Amino acid sequence: MSNLKFCQGPDCHTYNTQDRLKGPKGNKTYQTRRRSHMYYGRGNFCDQRCLYDWVAQYIEQGLDRFGRTTQAKHLTKDNAWVKDYDWRHGVGESHLYYFLNTITKERRPLTEEQYNDNNYTLNER
Ligand SMILES: [Zn+2]
Repeated sequence: MSNLKFCQGPDCHTYNTQDRLKGPKGNKTYQTRRRSHMYYGRGNFCDQRCLYDWVAQYIEQGLDRFGRTTQAKHLTKDNAWVKDYDWRHGVGESHLYYFLNTITKERRPLTEEQYNDNNYTLNER
């Protein structure tokens, strides 16, 4: 059971749900949830409440540490590429993947591998 990880919510153990009540009979306590897989905050939080508890506690430190937005960012044709695909219904047909520029509306073909590669982009950074 070593692949279980703890919810990172600072107050997870204070929410007294039955599934958090653990320990030997007569000595049970409400405990931080442990799961093999969690859906919130990139797999670090058991639910939205725990995610937002963490954000409320650490948001200022995080922004100070990693930098605040201090001026407007601009969407231009150079960073307006998004990945999309057209659904194919035929047996054995794969989807039609493409880049779409949301400013110019230009389309450029993509392979499925490029579509699934989160580092592959046409956008200037
Ligand atoms: Zn939690």
